[in-house]
Amino acid sequence: MDTAARQGDTVARTYRQIPTEILRGISVVATDIDGTLTGPDGVIRSAAARAVHDIEAHGIPVCLLSGRTIDTVEDVARRLQTTGFLVGEDGGVAKRRVGATLTDLGYSRRPALNALAILRATLGDRIQETEDNQCRLVDVAIRNEGIRVRQIRRLLDGVSVLDSGFMIHLVDVRVSKAATLLRLLSGNGSPTATPPQAVLVFGDSPTDLSLFHEFPHSVLVSNPVQDEAEARRLRKAAAYSTESSYGEGFAEVVRFLIEARRSP
Ligand SMILES: [Mg+2]
Repeated sequence: MDTAARQGDTVARTYRQIPTEILRGISVVATDIDGTLTGPDGVIRSAAARAVHDIEAHGIPVCLLSGRTIDTVEDVARRLQTTGFLVGEDGGVAKRRVGATLTDLGYSRRPALNALAILRATLGDRIQETEDNQCRLVDVAIRNEGIRVRQIRRLLDGVSVLDSGFMIHLVDVRVSKAATLLRLLSGNGSPTATPPQAVLVFGDSPTDLSLFHEFPHSVLVSNPVQDEAEARRLRKAAAYSTESSYGEGFAEVVRFLIEARRSP
């Protein structure tokens, strides 16, 4: 038994330690976009695009779960030709597939807008909305320059404050990527529902912690610009971690997954 396992799985182990029988039981891949498929510039890495194509070619749908608006997530899905669920605004908004209508999740933007009003009243001009904030339906996105997440958390109640490393999201506490993915997977109690053990989830930031907590098979994609305290928290929550960073990290795990399913 390796050191990490003896410590009670308190630290994510390398993806090379994912047992073959688990990899063979995976029927859905669910991944974050920014920092996980992209580099720090927000552009999808070619290795990650190829990896998404390869998993889909093996009959495993890829679900995209992002803090981006649902339209932007759908653009990525079209480009990568994914067939899985689409989740935007960190779980606030979802579609079952490209071109579908929005799934009714019953969330309201009211808690996030109230939080924004409190932050504006307290911190004034330091609170700047992102360019895409007006297109958002459930969360509120603000710029992360010069803002400490811990400071704004202390000012707010009833909303989650999530730092993706690209922006800060304010959203109703009930909303998370994991809660929405579980609802979509359950297919309203359908007998063909996918259990969480059949899903391999990928993420790189605190906005993915709900996935690491709710899904037993999770991979933390290394993101070298992550704050050290946050990185420690993420390594504790995820089951496994990549060796390479960004989209190349995602791609190396996919190669391992496909290899495991091919071997006799
Ligand atoms: Mg990310």
